[in-house]
Amino acid sequence: MDTIRRTKIVELIRNKDFGSKVAVKGWVRTSRGNKFVTFIHLNDGSTINNIQIVADVEKFGEDLLKQITTGAAIYATGTLVESQGKGQSCEIQAEQIKIYGLADPATYPLQKKGHSFEFLREIAHLRPRTNTFGAILRIRHHMAYAIHKYFNDRGFFYFHTPIITASDCEGAGSLFQATTLDPYNIPRTEAGTVDYSQDFFGKQTNLTVSGQLEGELGAMSLGAIYTFGPTFRAENSNTPRHLAEFWMIEPEVAFNDNNDNQDLAEDFLKYLIQYALDNCMDDIKFLNEMIDKDLIERLNFVVSNDFKRLTYTEAIKILEESGHKFEFPVFWGADLQSEHERYLVEQHFKRPVILTDYPIEIKSFYMKQNDDGKTVRAMDVLFPKIGEIIGGSEREEDYDKLMARVNQLGMNIDPIWWYTEIRKYGTAPHAGFGLGFERLILFVTGMANIRDVIPFPRTPKNAEF
Ligand code: ATP
Ligand code: MN
Repeated sequence: MDTIRRTKIVELIRNKDFGSKVAVKGWVRTSRGNKFVTFIHLNDGSTINNIQIVADVEKFGEDLLKQITTGAAIYATGTLVESQGKGQSCEIQAEQIKIYGLADPATYPLQKKGHSFEFLREIAHLRPRTNTFGAILRIRHHMAYAIHKYFNDRGFFYFHTPIITASDCEGAGSLFQATTLDPYNIPRTEAGTVDYSQDFFGKQTNLTVSGQLEGELGAMSLGAIYTFGPTFRAENSNTPRHLAEFWMIEPEVAFNDNNDNQDLAEDFLKYLIQYALDNCMDDIKFLNEMIDKDLIERLNFVVSNDFKRLTYTEAIKILEESGHKFEFPVFWGADLQSEHERYLVEQHFKRPVILTDYPIEIKSFYMKQNDDGKTVRAMDVLFPKIGEIIGGSEREEDYDKLMARVNQLGMNIDPIWWYTEIRKYGTAPHAGFGLGFERLILFVTGMANIRDVIPFPRTPKNAEF
């Protein structure tokens, strides 16, 4: 058969070049009809919208048409015409049809609509073919692009920090080790500990939990950088907001203080959400209809309202006086749980919240200490339905103060000697934060479980696909 250059469905629908000869390739969503005509709804992933292909039964024969079932991959050519049926703007009067691959209706798991998200997680190899996951994954792409665009347009440099690191000084226990040692034959030192000098790097290494420490080195030379890469945490938290492998965006800016950091975080989030509204509306409309009826309203609300900024201490007071019964106790010094964060955002302020100046004990060693000796210049951005979406801080740039804190905590600083040394040569104020990419996607899609906004989620006991 002669081949016409294939057009993606998104372009066919956009261009509406009625009367032209077109070719499409994609996967059949539905095929139904009567004795005379078959209507095939085809999707090629380029858009949530299907194109209807109208095939004359007499012309193609029942034998061919009955093989074109849900899930099959086909090629079709024909004339693009204005659609008579409701719900679509254009359709193809088929002239040629070729089947690439069949999908046996007796076994194809997506034969019917309306599967639960739990079931779809078990068929992660096929779930991107559903409308919902197609929409989510297209939005995910656009958000990744928008992140690069935001920073590029503002003179930030994309700084690649290592995935394998030896800087395990923060929260051990949640680390995935990276090793080539044979677990059945582990070399030992005389003292009986693992002899990592025989390991690939000659020392103990792990997958990164954050690119921040290295990111700071970039900021202290290039001025403003961001990282955007995979991050690994072996925390055994089976929550709808935690993955063992997630993507994090970490801008770091020399000469920024805690206020600049909050301004950047708020502007960044609003830009990304506005970008989604401007560029992903077909998919967002679908999700608004099928998943979360308040989605578009919530997205518009966030871009058009100031985030509420207050200190941790003020927030604790509000929570204590709320009269609300929380599962976890509220007191000054407590690490806020997502129920507390969501109460502040959803019940009390009814808008995104930035909390600052947390107790020093519950935050990381590198955060800049306030003069009160009790709090640090941290900031967390809290979002409706999500809780913490961003965590960041101004960094302690004073070598002596940083070392005093390190010693107080009894930390072994050897693996990150470079991190402290950068404070000895041209040290300067700087600040940054980490945005969890999947938490952003949760917010923009209205989905409830973080396993459903990444193609192949990694969670405890789950690395199948
Ligand atoms: P949480 O308290 O929610 O566990 P965290 O305070 O441990 O998060 P940070 O170390 O501050 O997280 O990481 C920065 C951001 O990365 C968080 O604000 C969040 O958006 C995201 N994030 C952290 N841990 C995870 C995870 N396990 N899965 C997905 N995103 C995460
Ligand atoms: Mn945090």
